[in-house]
Amino acid sequence: ARPQRLDELLFSQGHGTRRVCAGLIEQGLVRVQGEVVSDPGALFPPDGLVLEVEGRLWPVQATALVLLNKPAGYECSQKPGAWPSVMLLLPPPLRTRGVQPVGRLDQDTTGALLLTDDGALIHRLTSPKHHVPKVYEVHTARPVDEAQVKRLREGVVLLDDPVAVRAEGCEIIGPQQLRLTLVQGKYHQVKRMVAAVGNHCERLHRSGFGPIDMPEPPAVADPAPGQWRFVTDAERAALL
Ligand code: URA
Repeated sequence: ARPQRLDELLFSQGHGTRRVCAGLIEQGLVRVQGEVVSDPGALFPPDGLVLEVEGRLWPVQATALVLLNKPAGYECSQKPGAWPSVMLLLPPPLRTRGVQPVGRLDQDTTGALLLTDDGALIHRLTSPKHHVPKVYEVHTARPVDEAQVKRLREGVVLLDDPVAVRAEGCEIIGPQQLRLTLVQGKYHQVKRMVAAVGNHCERLHRSGFGPIDMPEPPAVADPAPGQWRFVTDAERAALL
């Protein structure tokens, strides 16, 4: 892509009005590939560019895509509700860009939540036609057994929908713990499926979204609960 002015690049990445962006640059708060650049009109090709703004690294992305390790007690809805919004966990530039959750996790569900300002990507990743596998780890109220696993794999009928839904994968990972892989995303699907086989979901963590893992507890390189990171280009390519 053609070179762009640094103040325009900063503006495009959500760092404030054009005036604020020029000010950040003039104050020496912006580095490009490690070097302070204080001329707002300096030109840089955006491809693969990494900006450092007030000490934090921002890869220049045409559309933002980030991974949040969602903690319990936050809701994905944009409307003000009973719980604070997951948006509050993101820094102002990402909110300015208008990132939105890709699908929803319940207030009490933890783990992998993607957010992006790319509407087409949200549509693609949440469409039932595009079967992105999502992995959920469930702590249950009662012991799990092979009969429950068999029913979850073969399909269960939920109250409001005559079409059975099934888990693509289901395994017992503890006396009261299951790992389920779903390719759909109906409202409260995991909780309702677990209830349909006579158990109850006490705690739910999404440990995988397509190629992206979010184990619990997080691995060293993973964001801690409440933290986020950029999705890499390789991960983005693997998602599609
Ligand atoms: N299924 C649920 O029941 N809740 C979630 O948050 C995600 C999947």
